[in-house]
Amino acid sequence: DGSALDLKSFIRDIPDFPKPGILFRDITPLLASPPAFKESIRRLCEPFADSKVDAIVAAEARGFIFAAPMAVQLGAAFVPVRKPGKLPFDTHSFHYELEYGSDTLEIHVDGLKSGQRVLVVDDLLATGGTVGACCRLIERTGATVVGCAFAIELVALGGVKTLAPYSSFSLLKY
Ligand code: 5GP
Repeated sequence: DGSALDLKSFIRDIPDFPKPGILFRDITPLLASPPAFKESIRRLCEPFADSKVDAIVAAEARGFIFAAPMAVQLGAAFVPVRKPGKLPFDTHSFHYELEYGSDTLEIHVDGLKSGQRVLVVDDLLATGGTVGACCRLIERTGATVVGCAFAIELVALGGVKTLAPYSSFSLLKY
């Protein structure tokens, strides 16, 4: 039973990555520890046990790591959101602006059905741009976002406000 584990002790801080001045929160030590990874999936799923989640949506690449085991645990579908040109079937596409530049994400048009209840997952919430774009894609399919879940939240960047009115749950806050 890992309920006493201090999961923050498995997050490694890397100064000046990927650019000078950025403190990168590295999740690879957590992934490398079977009890810590298992416990993080358990704690991420706990608030949604009674939420009747039909599908979990996550953007590549780090979002997939937490989303896939959560989908198995919650008995939900896993539906990928990817960079342009990666998904083989017809897609919805959402283009959004970032602090420096812009990005596009895609989802299969038949990945979700109208009315399905969807949980959006990512490794880390910063500004909320990535998961906000996932929410827009989910809305295009007619499905319903029931919440967003993150392993890590960088509180000062205000992502929770950006994602409102959708509710956000974070395992570890910095
Ligand atoms: P946002 O779109 O909320 O501004 O940024 C979140 C995205 O950037 C996530 O998909 C996450 O993978 C990535 N990201 C930004 N900073 C970090 C960090 O310090 N650590 C990790 N693991 N990912 C980060």
